[in-house]
Amino acid sequence: VFSCFTIRPASAGFSEVDNGMRLSRGFLPTLKENPAEAQVISHRLMLRAGLIRQTAAGIYAWLPAGWRVLQNIARIVREEQDAIGAQELLMPTVQSAELWKRSGRYDAYGPEMLRIQDRHERELLYGPTNEEMITDLFGQVVKSYRELPQVLYHIQWKFRDEVRPRFGVMRGREFLMKDAYSFDLDYASAVDSYRRMMLAYLRTFQRLGVRAIPMVADTGPIGGELSHEFLILAPTGESGVFFDGAFEEQDWLSDPVDIDDRESLDAFFTRMTSFYAATDEKHDEAAWADVPAERRREGRGIEVGHIFHFGRKYTESMDITVSGPDGAPLYPEMGSYGIGVSRLVAAIIEASHDDNGIIWPDSVAPFRAAILNLKTGDAACDAICEQVYAAAPESFLYDDRGERAGVKFADADLMGHPWQVIVGPRGAKEGKVELKRRADGARFELSVDDALARIL
Ligand code: ATP
Ligand code: MG
Ligand code: MG
Ligand code: MG
Repeated sequence: VFSCFTIRPASAGFSEVDNGMRLSRGFLPTLKENPAEAQVISHRLMLRAGLIRQTAAGIYAWLPAGWRVLQNIARIVREEQDAIGAQELLMPTVQSAELWKRSGRYDAYGPEMLRIQDRHERELLYGPTNEEMITDLFGQVVKSYRELPQVLYHIQWKFRDEVRPRFGVMRGREFLMKDAYSFDLDYASAVDSYRRMMLAYLRTFQRLGVRAIPMVADTGPIGGELSHEFLILAPTGESGVFFDGAFEEQDWLSDPVDIDDRESLDAFFTRMTSFYAATDEKHDEAAWADVPAERRREGRGIEVGHIFHFGRKYTESMDITVSGPDGAPLYPEMGSYGIGVSRLVAAIIEASHDDNGIIWPDSVAPFRAAILNLKTGDAACDAICEQVYAAAPESFLYDDRGERAGVKFADADLMGHPWQVIVGPRGAKEGKVELKRRADGARFELSVDDALARIL
């Protein structure tokens, strides 16, 4: 069978392909000291754990461990989009100004838009979002109401020339977003699309190991109730939030919503919105007073997602129609749905860390476990470490450096791997390792096989 991932023979000067990482050779620069430029904990930890490096104001390179986390988040986002029938595509980062002139947003968008000129003096821009482009693509392809609904999405870099980029990737200028767009024949069907997406978001965030609470957001000049921001609770959040603690008890993954049934979607949405949740902008003291005192949660939140129904705003302004049941042209109803994929890396850290470093949720961790060889060069230690590593190289970061044990412990805690496999000479002689769970510090003395069974 032909495989495009052939392993290079050792004779060609490469070792066997090894998708895991040995720290002695890894591009994984950890820092002992707090970088002076970082004001919030997630930014500090991302720099210290070697996840990112700044290359220009608000622009970051993702180093191997950070890139793994970003891809893990993107994969979960993708799976939940696919699960509601959204179709993935990929639109370019650079867009033509013409497109934005058609909707009237080219001037309206203001200085957050990075405007570029090519050698022929044509106006281009680095996309801050994609409503115009997707509406135009939709119009080129979909001609009849029979082809509706359509939900399209991509995971792509955006650029917004933020006045004050800050807190690392939390408010970058270049950032990775999942943006989805729905097209429906009528309002009722657009509401179904919106509710399906809301469920997909709740499931996505739950799988990412964080609680993101949907809160009614401003719909601007369009009005209506169909705009929600999803916020993760963290002291460094930019918005004040008030919500019913009952929300945190919900398990959206096992919730039997039938996404093809309007009544089921309606029941889900009614239940979801029955819990009080509002940002300071929308906070209503009277409604808040009805929430039982012991369930009132108050704090600050980080916006990690935003879903929005805006009807015919773009289809009308760009004159994109489909032919309706009676042959007459109709403007489809649209919604757009964003998730801040790169912001989530920081937001997850804000919500999950301690004094020693990051505590990655299992689902997004760059490595399942670190293998800490406490005495490199000791035959028994080396053999056990290699045995563990070989069981699943892509899951492990093997700390094979000739460093002191204390340095290895500190770096593993800092980097936040869910598990640490600690291999010292005494245990190694008996074929035993110590397993440490990062989240609660629980320790277990186990055989290699039992340790592997716990981790993998
Ligand atoms: P904010 O209020 O934080 O400026 P926004 O409301 O302008 O965000 P949206 O247009 O709703 O952002 O974009 C969808 C998502 O993209 C946001 O919910 C957020 O998670 C993410 N996002 C927006 N701006 C940035 C940024 N500068 N850096 C990183 N992520 C961002
Ligand atoms: Mg903004
Ligand atoms: Mg916002
Ligand atoms: Mg928003």
